[in-house]
Amino acid sequence: MSPERGPLAERLAHLIETSGPITVGDYMAMANAHYYGTRDPLGAGGDFVTAPEISQMFGELVGLCLADGWQRAGRPEGALYVELGPGRGTLAADAVRAMRSAGLSPEVHFLETSPVLRAVQAERVRQAHWHEDLSTIPDGPWLVVANEFFDALPARQLVRTESGWRERLVRVEGGCFVPAAGPPVPDAALPGHIRAAPSGTIVETSPVSLAVVRRLAGRLAAGGGVALIIDYSHTRTAAGETLQAVRGHAYADPWQEPGESDLTVHVDFEALAAAAAGAGVRTLGPVEQGHWLTALGIDARAASLARGVPQRAEEIEATRHRLVAPEQMGSLFKVLALASPGWPDPAGFA
Ligand code: SAH
Repeated sequence: MSPERGPLAERLAHLIETSGPITVGDYMAMANAHYYGTRDPLGAGGDFVTAPEISQMFGELVGLCLADGWQRAGRPEGALYVELGPGRGTLAADAVRAMRSAGLSPEVHFLETSPVLRAVQAERVRQAHWHEDLSTIPDGPWLVVANEFFDALPARQLVRTESGWRERLVRVEGGCFVPAAGPPVPDAALPGHIRAAPSGTIVETSPVSLAVVRRLAGRLAAGGGVALIIDYSHTRTAAGETLQAVRGHAYADPWQEPGESDLTVHVDFEALAAAAAGAGVRTLGPVEQGHWLTALGIDARAASLARGVPQRAEEIEATRHRLVAPEQMGSLFKVLALASPGWPDPAGFA
């Protein structure tokens, strides 16, 4: 390996050279575990910016949507706010404040593996409890949000070759990480409408995401509650590579310097919804983020904030526009809701 490589790249290259190529999913899992475990990547000085970091309105409307569902469910005792991958804790802080104004003060539980981000979250949400896994989060109605969480979970890649579908593996060639076709996979591993795709086609699936969503749906079905899953995506399962790396607010090469850029894939909402429905919950959407925030009243919230601080009116309008405009985040980002049996449909999905 060339001398400028980081410690993870050295470890990965050594692993591949001694034990053989690894799957794209394992490459992505190891790269992101190192990436998130060693830094706070969010914000202007980091690698990327998320909706809650753009405006407090995002977290407030998430909180109001969850509180409204809880009220219409009959204000059950012991509701928990559960967030998957809470980043800096900004969304949670804004959502909890909005829920309190609606008469709900839930315990806060975070699924977060990064020690660096846990420390940042602790400064914003002092009363939070942290978990490595959904299994240790207590029972009770769950009010769940996951914003830009599923896109960071490892994806498997399959590639169509002249001799059928194959697992895509990562090798080391000439000191570089290179993806290449590996062992054959049965056609049954692919959705029917994709099987006959031409040679060279790449398909991504995320077994880890499906496992998480199944467990989440199972807990919602048993204990009550709703979940809001927000991410950028395609609505239907489709062929095509979406794996991308982002570093310093620009696209980077996902095969270079693993662990030093944010690796993501588009979230397959069709597959997530099917997995959730199979585990006993209703699914709503996905709807476009712009449509959803508008239905929840972001225009009125922006106007009210601007009345309070007229000197910031222009900035407030600019952030509202960034969240909802189709050419900004409004269309690419989508919201999928899961609702347990007996709970009302959350607002914004009509
Ligand atoms: N939701 C936040 C941050 C998104 S970044 C926001 O909107 O600003 C992705 C988040 O998921 C980070 O908090 C990261 O540490 C966490 N994360 C990534 N992979 C994870 C995993 N396998 N288990 C738990 N958390 C994970």
